[in-house]
Amino acid sequence: MERLEKLLTERFGEKRAAKLADRFSKYMEMTLNWNEKVNLTSITEPAEFVEKHFLDSLSIMDSYEIEDAEKIIDIGTGGGFPGIPLAIVFPEKKFTLVDSLDKRMKIVQQMADEIGLKNVTTVHGRAEDLGQSKQYREKFDLCVSRAVANLSTLSEYCLPFVKVEGSFIAFKGPDAEEEAMAAENAIMELGGALADIEEAGLFMDDGTDLLADVGHMLVHIDKESKTPKKYPRKAGIPSKNPLK
Ligand code: SAM
Repeated sequence: MERLEKLLTERFGEKRAAKLADRFSKYMEMTLNWNEKVNLTSITEPAEFVEKHFLDSLSIMDSYEIEDAEKIIDIGTGGGFPGIPLAIVFPEKKFTLVDSLDKRMKIVQQMADEIGLKNVTTVHGRAEDLGQSKQYREKFDLCVSRAVANLSTLSEYCLPFVKVEGSFIAFKGPDAEEEAMAAENAIMELGGALADIEEAGLFMDDGTDLLADVGHMLVHIDKESKTPKKYPRKAGIPSKNPLK
């Protein structure tokens, strides 16, 4: 927790940092307790949990996309990543967390309520179905997603939720560049445009990068035009037959 506390203190000052750190540590404790009954994460060692779940999720906290966003959706959030850490540090923004596993969504909502997060709503459903519903389609300024699908499939899940002029950020591994090249046409077909691919980092005032050892990449995509009505295709198709 020490590195996270240092980051929070630098960004938000000591008083607020203490309150935020308390929420983070309670969320980790509850997740690890629940994890004994329901699979929420394979990471159970606290230092690794802080780095791979909390710090990694916060890698976009300094991005202009999140700064400008009011409504954010996290697709395939699992145990609440990256949505929950972002919701903790941005209490004024509204977060919708989606997953196709109902049990996970109920537990994540309960844990969010227990740590006093009023800006989190969990939704059980498949991205392909929710992306076609009036309630969610093109209603978000920013969509984020980590470890859910290859970038072509993921773009079909995520871009339909984003308003024109909004953004989508995919949290990816070291193959991000190749994935992005392979998905470029799909992204365009869905109304998006590849804006940037960068190594995920979290820089402190002294220049240290808290994510130097994690080696994750962020793919930034802008939504330039409406997604054609036929996307997302029916549940299961985007992963079975990704757009080329
Ligand atoms: N994003 C979390 C993280 O990085 O820790 C969880 C990643 S987990 C490997 C992938 C999650 O995506 C699972 O919880 C799964 O249920 C969800 N998922 C996969 N396909 C989905 C879909 N089509 N719609 C909604 N959720 C989906």
